[in-house]
Amino acid sequence: MLFEPRLRLGVTGLSRAGKTVFITSLIANLLQRGRMTQLRAEADGRLIAAAVQPHPDRETPRFDYESHLAALSANPPRWPESTRRISQIRVSLRYRPTGFLAGLTGDSTMHLDIVDYPGEWLLDLALLDQDFTRWSLKALKAAENASRAPHAGEWRALIAARDPAEPFEESAARPLAAAFTAYLGACRKAGLSGLAPGRFLMPGDMEGSPALTFCPLPPPVGRDPLHAEFARRFDAYKRSVVKPFFRNHFARLDRQIVLVDLMTALNDGPAAVADLSDAMKEVLGAFRPGRNSWLASILGRRIDRILFAATKADHLHHLEHDRLTAILSALLSQNLAHAAFRGAETHALAIAALRATVEQEGDGIRAVRGRLEATGEEAALDPGELPADPASVLAAARAADAGPAGTGWLDGAFKVMNFAPPRLSRGEGLPHIRLDRALEFLIGDRLT
Ligand code: GDP
Repeated sequence: MLFEPRLRLGVTGLSRAGKTVFITSLIANLLQRGRMTQLRAEADGRLIAAAVQPHPDRETPRFDYESHLAALSANPPRWPESTRRISQIRVSLRYRPTGFLAGLTGDSTMHLDIVDYPGEWLLDLALLDQDFTRWSLKALKAAENASRAPHAGEWRALIAARDPAEPFEESAARPLAAAFTAYLGACRKAGLSGLAPGRFLMPGDMEGSPALTFCPLPPPVGRDPLHAEFARRFDAYKRSVVKPFFRNHFARLDRQIVLVDLMTALNDGPAAVADLSDAMKEVLGAFRPGRNSWLASILGRRIDRILFAATKADHLHHLEHDRLTAILSALLSQNLAHAAFRGAETHALAIAALRATVEQEGDGIRAVRGRLEATGEEAALDPGELPADPASVLAAARAADAGPAGTGWLDGAFKVMNFAPPRLSRGEGLPHIRLDRALEFLIGDRLT
């Protein structure tokens, strides 16, 4: 066939949102479609075959599907290694078209190019409109927030101790950058989400490069050679890291799924939800840049569907899923105002790319049962109810932003645990929740 259409699907989300598990399960479930009944082409019996193919773009690392699936299929199964950089993989789908074309052309092929990239890299878009001094002020202010200050001690002490008039020395730059990176790492560990610049925690091949050896500094008072050098590095970071990513990868996507680990944030409490909300706001900014921004100038009218998915819904009984979706939608609309995403169609869904639990009911409890990751033992867990009113979650999150770090919802009643991946049975794809519905929204119209 002369022309075989392709669709570039971006998969993003902040660190540990579930990108690697999502893509691995998606591919496995496309290759073996026993559990993909909500994908229309599959339900109609029109999806004939799927195969992983070499990607025509050889410059970008390949998504390591085989190793990730091997981890999930091991005995005992392990979660795969998380996304640390951009990668991509091509899955080619052979299907029978609907309508009058079917009789004329026979089978069609659609190449689905899946592009996995850290959501942290999207946070970098906000850097493009800021100069070093302005960005520094904001970052230093954020470091004073109740949820962040405990992690910023060493870095701030180093800033306070330095003599700004000293000539620039690489040996002075490195500990500052290292302390700042450690601070971002501690924030991530504490479940916080605003972690820009994105490459500091996800350097890919750039580890140790001078473009990553800087940190926010207070505005200079008089001569400050280190400040001047860090400002140059900040500009270099924008020019040689941020812009190429948006130009070469982001601007070429057709569809996008944004994975959001709302479960963990809800578990960690209102401060974590507030932080997630702030980060989401910046992530979303990449999908609707200001009309005169640099990104808008390189972005044709391109991404036309965006799915927002709250991941790890298998931690909840299915009767709670609607509440999870409602909280996700509220979080999004709070950050969207009323502007649309450049005309893109959007949708929100609660999913589990890999279902690690089964439901258990009785004696007034609604629990999920699975193997605990920490001990390997089976346990039933009743995570508690999610708040019925999403607005109350957002209000609590806003209050936590202003005051001391909150301890939890409803006196800490809502609690999730980490489950190990399930033991897989052969032959019918991986167990999931609404992965097929997610895929139908993302690519279903292209399989008709
Ligand atoms: P990434 O950083 O976005 O690539 O995140 P991963 O895909 O590596 O997922 C991070 C962790 O979240 C995994 O190691 C699992 O512990 C957990 N996880 C991801 N997806 C699921 C899911 O569908 N169900 C459950 N129970 N846990 C999940």
